[in-house]
Amino acid sequence: MARTAEVPQDLGSFLASLLESGAVDALMCPKFLSEGKVAHALIPRNGSREGLAPLFPFMPANGGRVVSRFTTEDPVDRPVAVVLRPCEIRALVELVKLEQAHLENLYIIGLECGGVYPMEKMTKEKGETHGEAYLDALRKGQVPQGVREVCRACDLFQPTGADVVISIIGRDKPQVAFLTEKGLELASKIGLETQEGEVFTPQSQALLEAKAANKTKLLESMKERIKGYQGLLEVFGKCIGCHNCSKVCPICYCKDCFFESATFDYEPLSYTQRVDKKGALRVPMDTILFHLGRMTHMATSCVACGMCEDACPMGIPVAQVFKTVGADVQELFEYLPGRSLQEELPLTTYRPVEFTEVEE
Ligand code: SF4
Ligand code: SF4
Ligand code: SF4
Repeated sequence: MARTAEVPQDLGSFLASLLESGAVDALMCPKFLSEGKVAHALIPRNGSREGLAPLFPFMPANGGRVVSRFTTEDPVDRPVAVVLRPCEIRALVELVKLEQAHLENLYIIGLECGGVYPMEKMTKEKGETHGEAYLDALRKGQVPQGVREVCRACDLFQPTGADVVISIIGRDKPQVAFLTEKGLELASKIGLETQEGEVFTPQSQALLEAKAANKTKLLESMKERIKGYQGLLEVFGKCIGCHNCSKVCPICYCKDCFFESATFDYEPLSYTQRVDKKGALRVPMDTILFHLGRMTHMATSCVACGMCEDACPMGIPVAQVFKTVGADVQELFEYLPGRSLQEELPLTTYRPVEFTEVEE
């Protein structure tokens, strides 16, 4: 149970009221750029509130990464509300632990998330035509057709770590729940009356079970697919080495990526020697090494948001692979990325005794 309220008008007006009332000085929220196209926007109190689209079912960038862009060095100096999906909040928490973001002065408004469509749908079609079918599925507590594969299998779509939660699944009208002192402070500043209520509906809980079952199936089939070197070769064989997948990943934050360093600028002789030895050489080289390296760097923190898969021009199921590998690695370390600021990052935590079975 929590303090809850029905959204008085529409969700956009509710968010705009946070600015109008002076409860916050800025709002970060997806906003229409043009017909059917959205992007995250940071809107000041005197900025335009037209076209706020918190529920628009696309993720042009992982919002956790966007927040990190303006809080890397220092916290924001005034109150800012940020509207984020659960995997964006979890990415943000990981980025705070990686010293790439600050949470002070932020009010996190978490969306109960029905998933997002691949970006291709937004660029090729008029996005808002999907809105009604999407919301209709959520009202019925179903997975909307055509959302990203990792969203179909996402059992973490109910936000954690948020001050305010917007619940939409199984409801005709969105409900807001104020979960923290900071959240309640916002409710009082905009003069919203709250009452005791459940944060999520029974339909949402049923969807959780359905998605958990989808996840089990996805992990099982992907594990089979990527078995051994041959399996990796089949999945990543089409990779053209563009590194789009790491560029859009909220967790791959390094400014100078090792895989783009001079280490991989080989002498011409090195190519000819390899050609002589193998008979033929696949270029660009090191594509599998890149994926294995990326996995070792960030599998413990992968929040399975799907950005990498969306950005892949070759249709490689990158996020499904990372979700599968990440699930195993995270289980080994008993770590769930983004669950808590207090949980230490496995790769930077020294434990004198662990994995003793490896030595046996
Ligand atoms: S993975 Fe998909 S369903 Fe899960 S929180 Fe992210 S966008 Fe929503
Ligand atoms: S590896 Fe892919 S799924 Fe995982 S956090 Fe990065 S972009 Fe998201
Ligand atoms: S985005 Fe796709 S093609 Fe580009 S490096 Fe990643 S897996 Fe390879």
